[in-house]
Amino acid sequence: SGAPVITIDGPSGSGKGTLAQRLAQQLGWHLLDSGAIYRVLALASLHHGVDIENEDALVPLAAHLDVQFVSDENTKKIQVILEGEEVSKSIRTEECGAVASKIAAFPRVREALLRRQRGFKALPGLVADGRDMGTVVFQDAPVKLFLTASAEDRANRRYLQLQSAGHDANLAQILADVQARDERDTNRSVAPLVPAEDALVIDSSKMSIDEVEATAFDYIYGKL
Ligand code: C5P
Repeated sequence: SGAPVITIDGPSGSGKGTLAQRLAQQLGWHLLDSGAIYRVLALASLHHGVDIENEDALVPLAAHLDVQFVSDENTKKIQVILEGEEVSKSIRTEECGAVASKIAAFPRVREALLRRQRGFKALPGLVADGRDMGTVVFQDAPVKLFLTASAEDRANRRYLQLQSAGHDANLAQILADVQARDERDTNRSVAPLVPAEDALVIDSSKMSIDEVEATAFDYIYGKL
């Protein structure tokens, strides 16, 4: 379709998910949280006992992944449904994120998820967030953003989030996890985490989410 796409890529904890939600809401556009797809695939592989080191076994699972995103009319939150089961919370664990990042390194797994991701493109438009939205999945998007922040700032945000949710949190451990995931996502041979050449890079380290949103909208209105 001829629907416009805004891509938002960046490392975990950069605030891209929050920015994507805000832009989609403000514009009244569809939203694709591509990381959730990798997380759901991770959960499905755990449920079905599929070896997460075995690319050949993961590819059919990816190709036939029975996942739905359902927007709740009241809360506006998106529910993630895997094989009929609500998994919105269970895909957010650190374990699921770590497994997602491992299986996301397999080229044929990524390939198997391409069409499904592109299927989210629909009128009046799509806001897509992930690692390779601007570089691979929606290469011809008219607006590309790359949101980044220092590893320390991202670890700190995660730490505060966990604390305010009443969880035990260890800042040093979180920073180590953030750095390990960055390392994997940046150095993999297929679809590594890099800004598209035509992306606006926003360093959100010392910015509030409101400032990030304002910067993004200035840019978007100049482009659309
Ligand atoms: O963004 P989120 O942390 O939910 O993504 C989980 C993992 O899925 C990331 O660490 C990354 O390895 C992978 N991913 C990816 N490409 C995307 C989105 C996520 O490889 N477009």
